[in-house]
Amino acid sequence: LAGRTFRPEPSVIDVNGVKIGGKELVIMAGPCAVESRDQIIAAAQAVKKAGAQFLRGGAFKPRTSPYSFQGLEEEGLKLLKEAKEATGLLIITEVTCEKAIEVAESYVDMFQIGARNVQNFQLLREIGRSKKPVLFKRGHSTTIDEWLNAAEYIMSEGNYNVVLCERGIRTFETATRNTLDISAVPVVKSLSHLPIIVDPSHAAGKTQYILPLSKAAIAAGADGLIIEVHPNPKCALSDAAQQLPPDDFYDLCKDISKIAEIL
Ligand code: PEP
Ligand code: MN
Repeated sequence: LAGRTFRPEPSVIDVNGVKIGGKELVIMAGPCAVESRDQIIAAAQAVKKAGAQFLRGGAFKPRTSPYSFQGLEEEGLKLLKEAKEATGLLIITEVTCEKAIEVAESYVDMFQIGARNVQNFQLLREIGRSKKPVLFKRGHSTTIDEWLNAAEYIMSEGNYNVVLCERGIRTFETATRNTLDISAVPVVKSLSHLPIIVDPSHAAGKTQYILPLSKAAIAAGADGLIIEVHPNPKCALSDAAQQLPPDDFYDLCKDISKIAEIL
C-alpha cells in the first residue's frame, strides 16, 4: 500500500486543511517536550510568527533513562490545545502506547510515532485503526525497506494518512547525534507515494548544524521539516543542545523559503 506500484502518483495528506506533499513546504516546530503553560505559549507564538503551520510538543516522552523527565501526559495535551486556540497552529504530538492514542485523540490534529516505536507492530496496528494522520519516524537502525514495511502495518489497518520522517540513523560517526540520511528522501520518493519530511534536530543533536541540514533536506526534495524550538533552550528539560531559540528559527524559516522558491 505504501509502494509506487499501488499508487504511482504522490499522495497529498490533508491535515485539517494543511496539505503535506503538495507544492507548499510544511514546517512543524516547537519544543521537544511540553513543560509549562508559559513555555508552550511562548514557543507557539514564536513558531506562528516564523510562518510554520504545526506546533509540535511531546506529552509522552520516550526517554533513554526512566529517571529523566517523562512528559506532562494529559496536562501537556491540554496546554497544547490552549496553544492551538491562542495561535491557530495545528498540533502534532507523539503517542507511545494504546492509552496515549486514546487520550490524545481529541486534543491533537496529527499523531507522531517516534523512532523507538518504528517496529512496535501492535502500536502501529492500533494507530492504523485511527483515522488521524500520522507522522511516522524512521528508527535509529531501520533500513528504508523495513521502515516502509512498518508503514504497511499502519496502512493495512485502513489509515492511509501516513507521512514519513527521516530523523537520522545510527552510524559510526559521533560528531553528530545521528547521521542524517539525506539519501532517504530521494529513495523514499522513488519507492513510495507517501510524503516525506526531515527532522534535522534529532539528526544533528546540535543547533549549529540545523540550518545546513534543513537546506539540504529541502534541496533533496523533502516535503517539509520538523524542528525543535524552545523559548529558552538552556533550561529545556530534554534535548537542550538541539533546540533552536525563536530568533534563530525565524531566520531559518526565511532562508528555507528562499530555497523553496528556487526549486
Ligand atoms: C521527538 O520528536 O521528540 C523524538 C523523540 O524524536 P525521535 O523519535 O526521532 O527520537
Ligand atoms: Mn526531542
